[in-house]
Amino acid sequence: MTPGATPRQRLQAQLGATLPQAPELVLVTDLDGTLLGGPDPWRRRFYGWLQIERQRVLHVFCTGRDLASVARVLSEQRQLGLAAPHVVIGDVGSTVACGASLVPLPLATDPIEARWAGLPERLLPLLERIPGLSPQPVSTQRRLAYLIDPLQLDIGRLAAIEAHGVDCLVSDNRYLDVLPAGVNKGSTLLALLDWLEVDHARVVTAGDTLNDLAMFETGLRSVMVGNAEPALVAALPGLARTYRARAHGCEGIVEGLRHFGFAHLFEGRL
Ligand SMILES: [Mg+2]
Repeated sequence: MTPGATPRQRLQAQLGATLPQAPELVLVTDLDGTLLGGPDPWRRRFYGWLQIERQRVLHVFCTGRDLASVARVLSEQRQLGLAAPHVVIGDVGSTVACGASLVPLPLATDPIEARWAGLPERLLPLLERIPGLSPQPVSTQRRLAYLIDPLQLDIGRLAAIEAHGVDCLVSDNRYLDVLPAGVNKGSTLLALLDWLEVDHARVVTAGDTLNDLAMFETGLRSVMVGNAEPALVAALPGLARTYRARAHGCEGIVEGLRHFGFAHLFEGRL
């Protein structure tokens, strides 16, 4: 890579694969309940469409899963025709990786790593003492992940954790993610779009739980799928550019894309 390369050139080099040069749509999808949700026939059709349209549709996974778990999803869903996306945002925004190889992209992860340095050592002993939290069996890169027992956890105790310069994000009333302050699906997505020099008018995001709220709050066009969790639905009045789909999962994504004027990309195939 030559000195003075633009972030896009650096990212292209790190991705090691050709990104669509002028995508008509940049589709950013959460996985569980969103891209992996909805009736199987819809999922099969939608995954097939994504495969065929790889040069027109730049696809980004934006998920709470870690990279090992994304690899498992890709392997399990191959039977329904799900292909690797171009880019993966994982670990609720604290990891960015090449979709094909699942190798993390230093341009994106190094700054997050720097903000995370020293925090786990300080926070792990404090979190251990809070009743109702049990560590999730995931490789926690630049975040800590817990399962919540809502009957035992006093949410008020998380304020003392946040005072150390982290954000505590509760999702689906089951998961707690502790992330470097300001790092979330939305902030990492906006940074990625900047590096890729993408026109925001071409972007649509989709999600179903509270960890997707940060994507919706970016002001990008967004689809809240029909099976969204009630706490996310409650945030809808404050989200000017978010469309609430009636349909669930994949079918809801397609409904949202039609709403936002991308129906021409389907050409009668969906
Ligand atoms: Mg989800």
